[in-house]
Amino acid sequence: MRKYDVLVIGGGLVGCASAFYLARRGANVLLAEKNDINSLASGQNAGSLHFQLEHRLIQQGDALAEQFSRIIALNRMAVEQWTGLEAELGEPVGLAMKGGFMVAMTSDEVALLKNKHSLEQSCGMDTQLLTAEETLQIAPYLNKKILAAAYLPQEGHANPRLVTPAYARAAAKQGVTLQSHCEVTYISRNRKGWQVRLGTGEKEEIEVDMILNAAGAWAGQSALLAGIHLPVLPLALMMSVTEATPPFLPHLLQRAGAELSLKQVNAGNILIGGGWAARFKYNHGQPDLARRPAIIMENVVQNLILAAELVPEVARLHLLRCWTGIVGVIDDQLPLLGEVPGFPGYYVATGGSGFTLGPLYARLISELMTTGGTSHDISPYNPGRFGQHNSSVAKA
Ligand SMILES: Cc1cc2nc3c(=O)[nH]c(=O)nc-3n(C[C@H](O)[C@H](O)[C@H](O)COP(=O)(O)OP(=O)(O)OC[C@H]3O[C@@H](n4cnc5c(N)ncnc54)[C@H](O)[C@@H]3O)c2cc1C
Repeated sequence: MRKYDVLVIGGGLVGCASAFYLARRGANVLLAEKNDINSLASGQNAGSLHFQLEHRLIQQGDALAEQFSRIIALNRMAVEQWTGLEAELGEPVGLAMKGGFMVAMTSDEVALLKNKHSLEQSCGMDTQLLTAEETLQIAPYLNKKILAAAYLPQEGHANPRLVTPAYARAAAKQGVTLQSHCEVTYISRNRKGWQVRLGTGEKEEIEVDMILNAAGAWAGQSALLAGIHLPVLPLALMMSVTEATPPFLPHLLQRAGAELSLKQVNAGNILIGGGWAARFKYNHGQPDLARRPAIIMENVVQNLILAAELVPEVARLHLLRCWTGIVGVIDDQLPLLGEVPGFPGYYVATGGSGFTLGPLYARLISELMTTGGTSHDISPYNPGRFGQHNSSVAKA
């Protein structure tokens, strides 16, 4: 029977980056991915590096915005990590950190921005609140009707098709065994650690001391294999991309009061998203998380209208394609990061803006798994905050 120190479930960004950091700290790691490496959310996302509080975190009222603002401590650390990431991985990942705006086009949105700005300031995030004139000086391509913007010079984007494969290559160099088309199908606890079954056809059993659940939107399902309940809600989202055009938009853009994110990627295309829903396909009356969700045309149209309103130049461009993906979110919008109480040796890292924060989750969870502690307090994200779901399971 093969034996490893750690089994990582999932070959997305969180899984591949965690495998890399764990192996660099001396762990003998197997990463099992049921599809291809980087084939789901980590390779399908918008690539935005959201270090400001996002629209979805400020639109639910002041009390919740304050609760969500706990994430800022992680965002600040992520800025540093992304800045050095290409050097750390030894290859380019399409990183561009040329600044990001969250723009207000109504007086309600100005109020949202002001509240967001003071939350960020109180958490040490140095966002600048700019007038319309100041914003248009830096970003003359914006609609002249904007009222204000919050600006963070370090925001930007990276290429989702490059980041995770770069981590996977770096992990392999550190000695990680990466197995794609290898589903984890059963997990049981024994006296020494965990016994795990891999594969649905030719099955194999392995033994590991620790498990890291990095299965993204499937982390809830994967946890059930070990009898653990985790509140990970899969959401179906969509994205659009226009034809390429000469570079004119160096920044990451968001709208304060609407679901919009927009950027021009290195190849010249404009990527448009911001959290608009797609629709799950169904199988025997159940949402089918194994198939790509369907596009909702009205949502594409609304998303494009918002994009063209903020950046009028976009209206001139042809739409090339739309696609969908599935992201896992946690009830309280914060990450799930840590060891599951009652299940020694079983860890999880998922939730939130997992492209922006994935490398950081990976670094912190690898510290915890190899030393028992972390360089930054991650207790607010511990899965124990949902311990009521597992209390009787853990005792059984
Ligand atoms: C359309 C879209 C746009 C987004 N835009 C952004 C953005 O701009 N910025 C941002 O920060 N975030 C964004 N996100 C979120 C971000 O993509 C995800 O949070 C992040 O990629 C999650 O990475 P992950 O490694 O946890 O999950 P994934 O990339 O989904 O990887 C999980 C892997 O686990 C595998 N797996 C599941 N179960 C098993 C099993 N039993 N055995 C083996 N393998 C298993 C799956 O096959 C999958 O490959 C977006 C998401 C979507 C869908």
